[in-house]
Amino acid sequence: MSEPPADWTKGEEAITYQACTSCGHVQYFHRAFCAACGESDLRVLRASGKGRVYAASLVCRAAAPETRAHVPYNILLVDCAEGFRMMAHGENDLAIGDSVIASFRPFAGKLVPFFARTK
Ligand SMILES: [Zn+2]
Repeated sequence: MSEPPADWTKGEEAITYQACTSCGHVQYFHRAFCAACGESDLRVLRASGKGRVYAASLVCRAAAPETRAHVPYNILLVDCAEGFRMMAHGENDLAIGDSVIASFRPFAGKLVPFFARTK
């Protein structure tokens, strides 16, 4: 059996998600079981990085000293093409409903997903 693909939390420029082989449910947060049906037979897949902005919130005050240099920054909820929703950074002028694609940028010393508008 091959190793599941690594994602950005492990320093890889990729977003991964879990897909349930029993019911087809997809989830972003990796768990030992499916949140929909409870089965533990989950596959880890690499996402395309494409999605649509579900919510956007511009952060104008830094929560921690190491994020102060990034202010203001946009925190998004993105509905990804594969059917899961994730929180991520993105361009400051993004609005709800915009089509976006992920790249990766350093934030507070870590490489994180960063969404930009697709043309
Ligand atoms: Zn399931």
